[in-house]
Amino acid sequence: MFQSKSGLLVVVLAFSLTPLGFAELPADITKDAAVLKTRMVPQPNAVKFLAGPEVVINRDLKVMVSVNREQGGDAKKIASLFKTYWQCRPVINIQKDGGLAGMKADGYDLRASQGVMTIKASDFNGVRNALRTVRQIAEAQRGVKSQSCFYIPELEIQDEPAMSFRGVHLCWFPETNPRTIEKAVQLAAYYKFNYVVLEPWGVFPYKSHPELAWKNNSVSRGTFKRLVKTASELGVTMVPQLNIFGHAAAARHISGKHAVLDFNPSIQSLFEPDGWTWCLSNPATRKVLEDAVLELYEFFDKPPYFHIGCDEAYTLATCRDCRRGDYYKLLRDHLVYFHDIMSQRNCKVMMWHDMLLDSSDPRWAGYTAVGSKTHKLPDLLKELPKDIIICDWQYGRPKKDEKWPTMLYFKENGFPVLACPWLNSAGITSQGHLVQNENMMGLLCTTWHGLQGTGLMNMYYHGANAAWGAPEFSGGDKRGVVNMHIRQMGWDLGIDDYEDTGLIEYQIPPDESYPAAGL
Ligand SMILES: [Zn+2]
Repeated sequence: MFQSKSGLLVVVLAFSLTPLGFAELPADITKDAAVLKTRMVPQPNAVKFLAGPEVVINRDLKVMVSVNREQGGDAKKIASLFKTYWQCRPVINIQKDGGLAGMKADGYDLRASQGVMTIKASDFNGVRNALRTVRQIAEAQRGVKSQSCFYIPELEIQDEPAMSFRGVHLCWFPETNPRTIEKAVQLAAYYKFNYVVLEPWGVFPYKSHPELAWKNNSVSRGTFKRLVKTASELGVTMVPQLNIFGHAAAARHISGKHAVLDFNPSIQSLFEPDGWTWCLSNPATRKVLEDAVLELYEFFDKPPYFHIGCDEAYTLATCRDCRRGDYYKLLRDHLVYFHDIMSQRNCKVMMWHDMLLDSSDPRWAGYTAVGSKTHKLPDLLKELPKDIIICDWQYGRPKKDEKWPTMLYFKENGFPVLACPWLNSAGITSQGHLVQNENMMGLLCTTWHGLQGTGLMNMYYHGANAAWGAPEFSGGDKRGVVNMHIRQMGWDLGIDDYEDTGLIEYQIPPDESYPAAGL
């Protein structure tokens, strides 16, 4: 293969046959771009499809990798990705190049031309992201029943993330299928997120306090351990969460359930009387929470962050001792205590923002702000350590010229801020722009009970694009694209049960009323 200025020779090359009988058709760049760009999630910063012969992905492909930092086993890991993605073992050459020191972490430069794929990156993480991009556009051989190679157009792609923290927050309810979480972690990695905050809703089987998990409804430690390991192998850092203030029921408020109290009425003193908020005046509460927090921290392999929740503590200061005491001081000391024990372990604490804002302040009208002046909660911000990461969750549609004032407020007060959107796609995109323009820490896309179907599709699709910063490519069938990607995750996981495939367990939700009465 070689480049030539002779048009005739190019045509001859374009129609030549590979040893496999694969026809290298002449490229139609415009048509290729219109279709292939729709399949790229997130959309890379710069993509150029060229008119040269297609590049075949099979054992004859030459893969030239340059990295600034090489770790032992990189070649093996790259070979393993080719085997998983395209069932082949190409020729792989890796070299160290100090000139790539300036490349952004996770970014990459990818070229494919004349039977050679060239990847430049800071380290293996960038190389893997390049190959994830290739996987999204590589097509199986045409004209046969069963493919023996894949192909991509001649191309040049440069890509880098718009922010360093790109996270997804996942909830594990007793009702959650473990495969749903596994697929969600796989898809997060595939869409180039680098953190998953995992919140077990009463399903983590604590050794220190087994009563904190649902009786007979917790997930095995082995399942959690496998997930943490898999995430790490995919380049995703798993951050555990335990709510140390509100949401103490570890169950949705509207459900009336309580993971602890429903089966352990003897430990009511740990909670405010209705069970929704931990009782902060009780020293036994702190001891139980400290044991649990440290157990999770160790179990999750000592991650750099730990999420302590702290949202929606509706029923704070309602027991005899809390309502009569100095609640401001109790809460401040509680938060600082947990900050300090994690800080001693080089672990930064994350918390939701809503209790820190005065709900009556007109500046926050239209935004989530739940703190009340009664206990001086909005004053807490002045006394909290400035390395607590504020996770500001705002789920609404952006207004015209939206500035997301609550997020700017925390930033101006010296805190690292994660913007936390939910289902609203315009909100996700807008908060991504804010993080980028204001140089904030990053995005933490929330999913709550909507980790399925259209909700999952929107949160991941728009979240990934917002985190990498390039404008979304309009057109194409987004659902079809995400369906294809979740199927690829299923292949990687070896899924073979009907309920575990796709974006939702059942096409038609089980419902006793179906078919409707009268039909
Ligand atoms: Zn109390």
